[in-house]
Amino acid sequence: MTDSKKYVEVLLPLKLAGTLTYCVPQEVEDDIRQGTWVRVILRAKQYTGIVLGVSNSAPSDIPAGKILPLEEVIDRAPVQASEIRFWKELSEYYMCTAGEVFRAAYTVFLKDAPSAKRRRKKEGNRETPQNVQSELSEAQSEAYAAIKEAFSRGKRVLLHGVTGSGKTEIYTHLASEQLNKGKQVLYLVPEIAVSKQLQTRLEKCFGNRLLTFHSKMTSASRRSVIEALSGSGGPYIVLGTRSAVLLPFSNLGLIVVDEEHDQSYKQVDPAPRYNGRDAAMMLSAIHNSSMLLGSATPSYESLYNAADGKLVKVDLAQKFYNNVPPVVRIIDTNRERRLRNMRGDFSASLLKEMKNTLERGGQILVFRSRRAYAPFVQCTECGDVPKCPRCDVTLSYHKYNNSLSCHYCGYREPFTTRCKSCSEPALALRGAGTEKIEEELQELFPDKAIARFDSETTASKSREEKMIRDFAAHRIDILVGTQMITKGFDFERLELVVLMNADSLFAVQDFRSDERAAQLITQLLGRAGRRDTPGRIVIQTAQPEHPVLSGTLSEADKLKERALFRYPPYVRLLTITVKDKNEGRLWNACRMIDDAARRCGISEISGPVAPAISTIDGTSIREFWIKFDKAKSSKGIKAALLRELWNIEKELKGGSIIIPDVDPI
Ligand code: ADP
Ligand code: ZN
Repeated sequence: MTDSKKYVEVLLPLKLAGTLTYCVPQEVEDDIRQGTWVRVILRAKQYTGIVLGVSNSAPSDIPAGKILPLEEVIDRAPVQASEIRFWKELSEYYMCTAGEVFRAAYTVFLKDAPSAKRRRKKEGNRETPQNVQSELSEAQSEAYAAIKEAFSRGKRVLLHGVTGSGKTEIYTHLASEQLNKGKQVLYLVPEIAVSKQLQTRLEKCFGNRLLTFHSKMTSASRRSVIEALSGSGGPYIVLGTRSAVLLPFSNLGLIVVDEEHDQSYKQVDPAPRYNGRDAAMMLSAIHNSSMLLGSATPSYESLYNAADGKLVKVDLAQKFYNNVPPVVRIIDTNRERRLRNMRGDFSASLLKEMKNTLERGGQILVFRSRRAYAPFVQCTECGDVPKCPRCDVTLSYHKYNNSLSCHYCGYREPFTTRCKSCSEPALALRGAGTEKIEEELQELFPDKAIARFDSETTASKSREEKMIRDFAAHRIDILVGTQMITKGFDFERLELVVLMNADSLFAVQDFRSDERAAQLITQLLGRAGRRDTPGRIVIQTAQPEHPVLSGTLSEADKLKERALFRYPPYVRLLTITVKDKNEGRLWNACRMIDDAARRCGISEISGPVAPAISTIDGTSIREFWIKFDKAKSSKGIKAALLRELWNIEKELKGGSIIIPDVDPI
């Protein structure tokens, strides 16, 4: 080893604190700088990593003989300083390693690195931009001007616009302005599958300047998007789901986060457990780009930020085509049952409404939050409710394969009416999931085309897209579905939306359940209504007086409760989830976490508590809830706590899994 050697700090896509040091073989010295891709050996395995720093002297704490040389320098556009900074900020905020963020950003290059010959440049065979933009209406122009004015003061904007008010129209105007200035635009949406319509619309506007990016795309197409952006600074608009926030932007002028309230912006597993919306805010600070959040039902977080002056709120209250107020009808199922007005799960007046809609040639969307045929079964003799042997959840009955199955671990057993607890042949189906509702509707409307849209029937992307196309082309009259059907649809003949059993929305044990229920209802309502007719929604519930339905809560009221009980957005929430197959070790881990949290100076901690589902697939789960004051920075505490958690995991030799989650949903 000569003294002239260079050393590099390499970031690996792993859960490793910090970087690793390697020395640089002389023949590649000139190819090395910050951001260079390299291949290295760690514990006899090869990894792809990124050079974060170069130095001329060996680190003092490692014996020189122990430092391995780099294996190889990879010929690929280097990672930019702004990306590395973003990874560091995200990892600090979300309590993970920069390596884990790097892995999430470049998954497609890390899994199976493509050989050079397989890498093919994608030709832009799409049409060139036609600038088919519509002129903005008066209300839209006003909103647009208000947004621009806020941008000019360096402010971020929350556009609160009802569905159909033309938010998308405003986004495209703002985006094309940026592209004309030679800048890039990031346009985030919650779920791309249902945004196919949007993609087509944007393609017309932006031609081959539009890049689409989401996790259901093939690795090859995702790689070509990364390659197009890498260091090019070209004026692209990227339409993508949350992971698009990690793309290598270099000249970002504007970020739009549509449906900013949507839960699917949050990555649950694996780390980084980030919220795409909030990550986008950090990204906009790094690039000094404008930032626009849009929603018909803003999150409480954003309403709070608007009240606090962190966001400028711009309202767009008018639908573009018509402004007839939607018709909301609430049906009290208890009352209807007493009056013997129910046919199966449908009240007579709902059926009449559906019949009228179909006769007029309209389409209907029926929402039910539970899939399966019967969400659970129960013995009419002894009252026993069969549960999954591996999880702490009831088994659901699926008629199509006559089985009881677990939605958490996939466990399945054939269904017989014999109760395992008392041996009587008395197991009865309880409740009505999407499968049963579909069946009932088929009996009630035998000559109508009825389909079901849930994770069972749309397992493949092509089936999902076909069902959306079929509904759009009116080959389906009634579509029954779960949460999946509430997002981003735009169907011209959809007149009526039905919400079955709204009570199941209120029964969720979560401080956010009312916010979620209200958002869902507004989103559903946004799907209904044609250009010349008002949208209609019928809600069946046993709690017609529920505050979410009576609509009596003002924005201030909604936030008041959160303030009172110190919930987000008034505090920052952090959960620590502990999982272990061994109860004793789990208990031990929990005790150690509690001690560690107190050592770190955390005062508001509760737990360990068993979550609503406390066992999944034989693994027990416990949770801690930690609250941080928003006014103070929690950065130092989080960093210290993370180190403690790693140490606990090490001490337990990987037995317990410990997962910190910042701003959980
Ligand atoms: P949002 O995104 O707020 O739900 P959209 O942008 O999708 O609303 O607009 C709803 C409908 O109105 C779309 O069919 C859109 O093409 C149409 N629209 C909105 N603004 C205009 C406009 N300025 N000129 C023509 N059509 C418009
Ligand atoms: Zn199970």
